[in-house]
Amino acid sequence: MTTFAVLLTFHDDLSFFLKSKQPQIDRQLTERSSVKDVIEACGVPHTEVDLILINGKPAGFEKVLAQDAVVDVYGLGSDRLTHFPENRLQVCEIRSFVADGHLGKLVRDLRLLGIDVAYDRDAEDRQLVKLASDEHRALLTRDRRLLMHAAVRHGYYLRSQNPLAQTIEVLQRFDLASALTPFTRCIRCNAKLESAEKEKVLGELEPLTKIYYDQFRRCSGCGQVYWSGSHFEKLEKRIQAIQAALATKA
Ligand SMILES: [Zn+2]
Repeated sequence: MTTFAVLLTFHDDLSFFLKSKQPQIDRQLTERSSVKDVIEACGVPHTEVDLILINGKPAGFEKVLAQDAVVDVYGLGSDRLTHFPENRLQVCEIRSFVADGHLGKLVRDLRLLGIDVAYDRDAEDRQLVKLASDEHRALLTRDRRLLMHAAVRHGYYLRSQNPLAQTIEVLQRFDLASALTPFTRCIRCNAKLESAEKEKVLGELEPLTKIYYDQFRRCSGCGQVYWSGSHFEKLEKRIQAIQAALATKA
């Protein structure tokens, strides 16, 4: 079998994904391979790649590599992108997401901020991929294999394991800071909240809540009633913590 060599260089923070952490990789190929497959064989999911140059020319993921190809791979936010605005491979402004089953705290934060995040703790991998593909949602996960699936068009690999840091990562990756609408979405089920008249929710309130509160919202999906009680204060503190963290990273 004939083999031939290609040279890949991973720029920006993409060496995060490489085993050796060395940005240059020599690879021997034995068959016709798309650049997507070769990049992912190095450990980098295609959802993290925003620009590919092959011998200095921009290329798409399906481009088949030829002998002695020199491949430069750039991540989101790369300085190089300004020279190739038409050849970017990722979309920044995505407004709906699906999160894998290990990310409950991140999902809670994002929904609290009004962001549409589909989430089922027990969802299987193939269900996550299908939902991302069918509903054009970006897949949020710490499973890079999942992001390498060809049906996953958009997604993001969370670098941190800390929920607050993860929330900031997602807000920055998808330019969400100006699109936040806190307290408009149900934390439990992701449906929109609607304002509800007090008389209509009286039967579901504790005696003291009936006395002290007059403004209520009800989830249009699961029916959960929300009001500005002590729970609200806790959530408001969380929003403040997120906004403070975002300001220091901006
Ligand atoms: Zn709900």
